[in-house]
Amino acid sequence: MPTRATERRSAPADTEPPEASEPPASPYAFFHPRVVRVRRLSPSLVRVVLHCPELSGLVSGGGDQRFKLFLPRPGQTVPVLPETTDDQWYARWRAMDPRVRGVMRTYTVSGARPDEAELDVDFALHGDLGPASRWAQAARPGDRVSVLAPVATDNGGVDFRPPAGTDWMLLTGDETALPALASILAGLPAGTRVKALIEVAHPEDRLPLPTTADAEVTWLVRDPAAPDRTAGVLAALAATPFPAGTPYAWLAGEAACVRAQRRHLTGERGMPRGAITFSGYWRLGRTEDQLLDEAAAAAAGS
Ligand SMILES: Cc1cc2nc3c(=O)[nH]c(=O)nc-3n(C[C@H](O)[C@H](O)[C@H](O)COP(=O)(O)OP(=O)(O)OC[C@H]3O[C@@H](n4cnc5c(N)ncnc54)[C@H](O)[C@@H]3O)c2cc1C
Repeated sequence: MPTRATERRSAPADTEPPEASEPPASPYAFFHPRVVRVRRLSPSLVRVVLHCPELSGLVSGGGDQRFKLFLPRPGQTVPVLPETTDDQWYARWRAMDPRVRGVMRTYTVSGARPDEAELDVDFALHGDLGPASRWAQAARPGDRVSVLAPVATDNGGVDFRPPAGTDWMLLTGDETALPALASILAGLPAGTRVKALIEVAHPEDRLPLPTTADAEVTWLVRDPAAPDRTAGVLAALAATPFPAGTPYAWLAGEAACVRAQRRHLTGERGMPRGAITFSGYWRLGRTEDQLLDEAAAAAAGS
C-alpha cells in the first residue's frame, strides 16, 4: 500500500516466514463488503463486522496490519472508487473529484475470520468531527463500504517487527492503537516481557487484553480538561522503570505525542533509533485527507 498519510518509521525487519504457496501478483485487493454486525465495546470504541464472500481471501500479516477503508459520501450508498484493479489505484483515486470519490481512511485488522469471510474493524469514536468516526457511530447492518486489504502475509502493511535479540518490549498507544495493541499482545510468544502504556478517554475503555506474554499493562485515563494531550503519557513514560536488557519499542497514537515519546526514548533513555517503531495514527487538528495532501506536496517538492 503506497500511501503514508502519517509519520511512520520502523526498525529493521525480521525475516518473513516463507509463503506456503505462490504469492498473488499484488499483496492487496479491493473488497466490497456490507456491515453484518455492530457492537459497542466501550464508551469510545465500536466494533463493526464486515462481510462479503471474497473476504475469505483476506490475510493478515501481523499484529498491526493496516488496511484502507473507503466510505460513501453523504447522498451515496456505496463509495465511489476508480475503475482499476492495478497498482495505479491511488493516483487514480487522487485524480478524482474530492467531493465525489470515496472517503479513504486507514484502520487496523482487528480480527479476520476467513472461514466466515468476516473482517472486524474497531473504531475509536471521536465525535462528529471526522467522516469515519461519524460513519462508525451510525453504522447499521447492510451499510456498504469498500476496503483495500491484504491477500498475502508479506504485504508491507505491518510495522511491529522486533529485531532479533530483543529482551523486552515497550508498547504505547491510545484508543486508535488499541486494536493493534490487542492483536500484538495476543500474538506474542508466552513469557515475552512487555511493558504497555495505554491512554484512553474513559475508565470503561480499559478492555481485556488476553495474552500469554509476561505483560504489565498500565492504563491512563485522559483528563479531558488537560491542555496538552501529550503530557500525561510522557510523564507516565518517564516514571516507568525499564528492565535490564535490550528493549524494542512500538509507539502509536496522536503524531505529536508519539514524536515526544520517541524523543524521550532516544534522549533520556538512550535507546537506538533502530529499536523504535513509531506511527502517528492521526494528527490533532488535521484530517487524514490533509495529511495525504501534505505528503503529496512534500513528495512533489523533494
Ligand atoms: C496505520 C494506522 C492504523 C490505524 N488503525 C486505527 C484503528 O484500528 N482504529 C481507529 O479508530 N483508528 C485507527 N487509526 C486512526 C484513524 O485512521 C484516524 O483517527 C482517522 O483520522 C479517523 O478518521 P476520521 O474521518 O474520523 O477523522 P479525520 O477526518 O481524519 O479528522 C477529523 C478531525 O478529527 C481529529 N481526529 C482524528 N482521529 C481522532 C481521534 N482518534 N481522537 C480525536 N480526534 C481525532 C483530527 O485531528 C481532525 O481534526 C489508524 C491510523 C493508522 C495510520
